[in-house]
Amino acid sequence: MDFKLTPEQQALKKELEEFFAREMKDAPPDYQGNILEATFGSDGGWEFYKEIKKKYAETGYHIMAWPKEYGGRGATIIEQLIFEEVSSYYGGPHDPFGLGMFAPTVLLYGNDDQKQRILPAIASGEWQYCQGWSEPNAGSDLASLKTTAIKDGDHYVINGQKIWTTGAHRADHIFLLVRTDPSSRRSAGLSVFNVDLRLPGIEVRPIRYMNGTHLYNEIFFTDVRVPEFERIGGEGEGWKLTRATMNFERSGVGFFSEVRRGLEGLIRYVKTTRRDGRLLSENPIVRQKIAKLAIDMEVGRALAYRVGWEQEKGNLLFSAAAASEAKVMGSELAQRMSNFATEIMGLYGQLEASKWAPMNGTMVDTYQLCMGFNIAAGSSEIQRNIIAWVGVGLPRI
Ligand SMILES: Cc1cc2nc3c(=O)[nH]c(=O)nc-3n(C[C@H](O)[C@H](O)[C@H](O)COP(=O)(O)OP(=O)(O)OC[C@H]3O[C@@H](n4cnc5c(N)ncnc54)[C@H](O)[C@@H]3O)c2cc1C
Repeated sequence: MDFKLTPEQQALKKELEEFFAREMKDAPPDYQGNILEATFGSDGGWEFYKEIKKKYAETGYHIMAWPKEYGGRGATIIEQLIFEEVSSYYGGPHDPFGLGMFAPTVLLYGNDDQKQRILPAIASGEWQYCQGWSEPNAGSDLASLKTTAIKDGDHYVINGQKIWTTGAHRADHIFLLVRTDPSSRRSAGLSVFNVDLRLPGIEVRPIRYMNGTHLYNEIFFTDVRVPEFERIGGEGEGWKLTRATMNFERSGVGFFSEVRRGLEGLIRYVKTTRRDGRLLSENPIVRQKIAKLAIDMEVGRALAYRVGWEQEKGNLLFSAAAASEAKVMGSELAQRMSNFATEIMGLYGQLEASKWAPMNGTMVDTYQLCMGFNIAAGSSEIQRNIIAWVGVGLPRI
């Protein structure tokens, strides 16, 4: 693997750094904390996201790696990762569901009509997606999901419930994994649908997070009629598509950029904060722990780029283990960093909306959100199981 960026990629990185340094100055006060929370958790943050999506659409930065016929530049996946890395570092809003997960799936498995309808709406920001996979009794064991879509003429009728649907209260579309063959078991008989959340029979209810923010939801489907042309891929092919989508979800480099930003803030904090008469930065334990976090961050970033590098070589559905390695490393690293930060901040470290909150409360915010990140998109235990089976060849038990 070649770790160097080409001169063109370096120039792109600089251009993106200038773009985000300029644009993020306009972020409103309630666009704060972790990117997900800043984007979906407040009305001001959401309005800012919609504005910046228009700027993404003008520049085309966010869809660089898409084929030219759908508005992309035909750039490499590495260039797309550079966009993700820089935007996350500056706290730029993301579209993890439409852009990050569904669009690559549609590009791989959608028919021409679906590509023509769905991709421009994601690129322009007109359609906002959420991810409809988990159910109250189907999370890690996703294949046991029970929501059904039963064929009725040229429609499917959907009944059931999804849960933990991040950002559904802001979204107007959902990509949905459902059971089209009710007599099937496990991963057979599942299909993927593109569903307009404004259809009759759909109800979105909030699930408040421990810090009070509204990021997550549950969604109820009662006799929702979805046209057949909204099925992505063949009937019964849902599991194949979903496995591909999972890898797109887990390959993000953004986690490590957010950690880089946090770590830089933490380094400033220890260089300027005294404890027992000396700077925290002179404490050997603090130094060791920060050095370890810095090493892990660089290792994780390399892992995430490896995922992109494999995909760029055309290995689009390559080993799920590499994506799992990056996911488990990124989510646990953010947890280790915020855990350590709140520890050395003492009682002040628990403050968020206060002038006394160290680092504006960003570390306690990350600390709380990380609990969810270690579960969302497949828990750390599940990721380690995948690494054990697929990555290192241990027997599947
Ligand atoms: C913050 C957050 C955001 C989310 N956003 C979305 C979203 O937008 N869309 C969506 O569809 N879903 C979303 N989810 C759901 C998420 O994918 C599931 O919560 C996750 O897959 C775990 O499933 P579960 O909650 O049912 O827990 P369970 O599967 O019941 O797991 C409970 C515990 O058992 C462990 N466990 C389970 N099976 C095994 C095993 N075989 N080996 C070892 N340990 C095991 C798990 O690691 C976990 O610790 C989100 C979840 C969270 C917390």
